[in-house]
Amino acid sequence: MKLHILGCYAATPSLMGNPTAQILEIRDHLFLIDCGEGTQVQLRKHKIKFSRINHIFISHLHGDHFFGLPGLIATFQLLGREKELHIYGPVGLKEVVLMLLRVGNSWTSFTLVFHELAEKVPVQIYEDDKVMISTIPLSHRIYTNGFLFREKVKERILDIEAVTTYKIDKAYFKNIKKGKDVLLDNGKKILNKRLTLDPPKPKSYAYCSDTAYDPQITEWIKGADVLYHEATFLNSEAEMATKTKHSTAAEAAKIAKAAGVKLLILGHFSVRYKKKEAFIEEAIPYFSNVQLAEDGRLLLI
Ligand SMILES: [Zn+2]
Repeated sequence: MKLHILGCYAATPSLMGNPTAQILEIRDHLFLIDCGEGTQVQLRKHKIKFSRINHIFISHLHGDHFFGLPGLIATFQLLGREKELHIYGPVGLKEVVLMLLRVGNSWTSFTLVFHELAEKVPVQIYEDDKVMISTIPLSHRIYTNGFLFREKVKERILDIEAVTTYKIDKAYFKNIKKGKDVLLDNGKKILNKRLTLDPPKPKSYAYCSDTAYDPQITEWIKGADVLYHEATFLNSEAEMATKTKHSTAAEAAKIAKAAGVKLLILGHFSVRYKKKEAFIEEAIPYFSNVQLAEDGRLLLI
């Protein structure tokens, strides 16, 4: 899994950085998570192929999380896109996008598939043979979801030495990797565990922006390898955090600790803070494996 952070600032695009957008690269997919203004430029800057984006996940309808979407759709059209584009987000998103196309007498030659969300409990919104994605209901001023991306267990790894020793024909390999035992022509059964090694543990990534401090989410993101949690404010602005339903760095760290994640990434910073070391300082007493998001940062999960 690779996480490309394209934008990690709150509210408005600024000279400091871009509003929220991320690309999660996972088992051949490129998932776009939120799409603030300027996302297209960031995609180009970081040489991410537009044509590989087939699924877009929008957390909520505050502009700093989706104002880049109509422009991106228009660019897909200009690039001659033919593949379906799946968009997951709150009820209302479809209406906004289609209205913008309609008033401009524009259209798309590719199919837009909207998956509108209104559930207040976690729901699975995507699944294939490699990945599962579900919502993480968040607590914000308007209806908001985070997203939990989970890899499925990979196939078992063929132990080349073992299959050579047992002189097993290649024709069996496909089934062996799926966990099947082998019955040889002489009637002898060879157990799968003698022929294979365990695959690597599947990884998971939890994206939580925007949200007030909400311990309820910990049960939905338990044990995630990486948690991105918003930390719009520092403790000095705790009142503002409560009022606007955002979190402080310390609150994000408490969530990380309670959920038992391995790594916490703080983001969605208010542009009022010129230096960000204080975010780490406030988080560390509660959770030590913490890092700061940064526009253009690439993380391996
Ligand atoms: Zn918001």
